[in-house]
Parts: sequence; structure tokens; C-alpha cells
Amino acid sequence: MGKNDAKLNRRQFLKASAAAVVSLAAVGSVAYWLKDKSDMRSRGLLRPPGAINEDEFLFACIKCGLCVQICPVRAIKLADWDAGLSYGTPYIDADVQACDFSCDSIQCAETCPTAALNFQVFKKAGEEAVTELYAKYNNKLPADVNPFKVQIHAMKRVYHLGIAKVDPEKCLAYHGKGYEGPLTKHRAKLRPPGKDERVHTDEIHVKREMCDLCAVYCPLGEDAIVMEKTGEGRMLPKILEGCVGCGVCEMVCPTEPKAIVIEPAEL
Ligand code: SF4
Ligand code: SF4
Ligand code: SF4
Repeated sequence: MGKNDAKLNRRQFLKASAAAVVSLAAVGSVAYWLKDKSDMRSRGLLRPPGAINEDEFLFACIKCGLCVQICPVRAIKLADWDAGLSYGTPYIDADVQACDFSCDSIQCAETCPTAALNFQVFKKAGEEAVTELYAKYNNKLPADVNPFKVQIHAMKRVYHLGIAKVDPEKCLAYHGKGYEGPLTKHRAKLRPPGKDERVHTDEIHVKREMCDLCAVYCPLGEDAIVMEKTGEGRMLPKILEGCVGCGVCEMVCPTEPKAIVIEPAEL
């Protein structure tokens, strides 16, 4: 091999190496972009109840859409192409339509064929609550005690989609203000606490001297949120341990931007 051939080979080698580095960097950037885009939490979006650890979820979810179809309030949507690796996976935008647990049995998780939404945690909590109830009454339940309600309550409480956070500066109550108008400006569905029927939120007219809508419509009630006087003598929602991050409070909060939002849970 002559000197010129050796030079040529070295040049070819350097060129090939540079091309390989550029290709690897490009592949790395695309992978990073896909991963970055797939993080639904950073966009303030929630995974449906029972979602397992995010990395495992992305592999376990087969994007069948059964959870979307079964949800009676249509809270679950499938992510669009701009969601990177999360493309086609289910999420909830609580601001638009929160999970109000009105299916009564966490149907999205129950119907998931791969356990990407893990129903077992809910099932176990429900069964334990009913077993405890029967033990408490020596297997003779009073007529006014409904084991189904006890089971549902336990199931609702067990899983945290996130936790509600209040911004006092944006909150009407904190500024001594009320609210009158439709419960939400856009159309959403909700079963108000204590009622049997679901309603369209834009058809409900509400009038509050002092805003407390987040507390009134919370499906977990006083386990999760209460209106409380602050040290300065102003009213403000206080988030309690029982908050599961369902997002109903965010959906019905009349301020824009919302005074109460859900911080998605680390799954
Ligand atoms: S728990 Fe029920 S209401 Fe909530 S997202 Fe799942 S199916 Fe919908
Ligand atoms: S405060 Fe109530 S409505 Fe708001 S996220 Fe928590 S449980 Fe849901
Ligand atoms: S609904 Fe919104 S504005 Fe009203 S009390 Fe709750 S956080 Fe404040």
C-alpha cells in the first residue's frame, strides 16, 4: 500500500467516524425528544386511575382504548402523535373533564386487559373494607348500612392520581368573592355528590355568595377538602390527606387560570 492509499484510507475512516457520530447524535436526539414528549405529567395531564409506574406503563399499555370507551363521563383520551412515546396512551385532562368516579367501580382499570391500569389495588381495598364492615356488625348489617357504598368509598380513596394545590392569589374565596353562572363554561359531565344522576356542568346554574365550588363538588367531600379561615381571617380551600387528585375541583373552579390545579402523582 502506497503513502497516498494510506492517507485516503485514513480520510475515509475519519469521514465514516464523523458520519457515525452525527448519526448517533441524531438518533439520541430523537430518542430524547420522544422520551421528553412522552412525559404527560410535565404537561399537567394525569394517567387514569390505577396506572402503574410510567416506564412500565408505556410497555404494558397496548393502546386498545377500552378504558376510553367504558368511562361514563368520557374523562379518558388517547394521546396524539405529539406525545412522543406516549402516543396512543390514555390520559386525563382534569381541567376539561375530570374523573368523578361516577362509574362506581373504577371501570377503566377493571376493563384494562393488560393491567397497565392495575385494578387489583382497588379490588383489595374494596374487599377489605367490606370484610371489616361485616366483622364490625357480627355479620348482621343494619338495614341502613349499604356494603356497596362502603366498598366504593374504599376503592375511590385508595389511588392517588395526584394532589390538588391552591393558589390563594387566584382564589375568589380568598379575596372574599362569590360566583354566579354556569358551573363550567364548557360542556362536561359530573355526578354531583349525593345525587344519582349525572348532569352536564354547563347546564347547572350556581350562585355562591362566597366561592366554595371546589369543596362542594369534590367527590371525596370533607375527607379531601374543606373551606377554612386563614390566619389573616380569609377563607381558602384546605386540601386534606384524603385528596386523590381526581381533578373535579380544578374542572369546576371558575377562575381563569384556575386557582386550584392537580399536581400529578409520581407513579
Ligand atoms: S374511574 Fe370511572 S369515571 Fe374515573 S376515569 Fe375511570 S371509568 Fe372514568
Ligand atoms: S380536592 Fe377533591 S375534587 Fe379536588 S382533586 Fe382532591 S379529591 Fe378531587
Ligand atoms: S372553586 Fe376556585 S375560586 Fe372557588 S374557592 Fe375553590 S379554588 Fe377558590
